[in-house]
Parts: sequence; structure tokens; C-alpha cells
Amino acid sequence: MEPGLAVAYTLAENEAHAQGVPLSITSGYRTPDEQQQLWDDGLATYGGPDAARRWVLPPEESTHVSGHAVDVGPLAGAQWLEANGNRWGLCRMYDNEWWHFELATTPGHTCPPMRPDASTR
Ligand SMILES: [Zn+2]
Repeated sequence: MEPGLAVAYTLAENEAHAQGVPLSITSGYRTPDEQQQLWDDGLATYGGPDAARRWVLPPEESTHVSGHAVDVGPLAGAQWLEANGNRWGLCRMYDNEWWHFELATTPGHTCPPMRPDASTR
């Protein structure tokens, strides 16, 4: 994971836990091979690249492969991070993925508007 993201997420997780909120990483950095497997699965599941891209991107485009994304859980923790993550620059990115966060703002500032899904980035 990219160091700035790792630091920001660790600080956020520590604060969540201090407040009694469950929060942990469900998927962070992925190798290109791991992402290729997810992409292949997505193509099979969704029947083609246009539909699959709403949920998974190929390795050369995935922010998980570049180390700039973190998926979190459970839902309560993700909702807490959506409400509080901007303190560390962490923002939910997509309407359809409540679990996916990236560094997307300056700490303490407002997050950018969410995109409908990953296919529009
Ligand atoms: Zn993700």
C-alpha cells in the first residue's frame, strides 16, 4: 500500500477503535496477478467489460494494484469512515461501493462528490 494511504488509514482505524467502532481492511494492495483473476471473474460474472467495469477494473487501471485504495468492513465501520475519514484525507469514491476508500482530499477538507461507479473514473 502506498505509504501515505497506509498512515492515513492506520490513524483512522485507531480513532475508530478508540470510539468502539469496528473497522478493518478487507482488501488493500493487490498484485497484478490477483487483480487479473478478479477481472477475469468479473468478465464471466457480468458478461462483458462494460458491465464488469462498474465493479472491478483490469490490473493496469486498478487503484488497488497501484496501492492507492483500501476496502474496509464491516458496514458500520465503513459508514463511520465515510463520515469521519476526511479528517485524514480518506474518502468513499463510488455510490455502488460502500467499502472502497482512497486518499482524495487534503486532511480536514471536504471529499469530492462520489462517482456512480468505477467505470466512470
Ligand atoms: Zn476497492
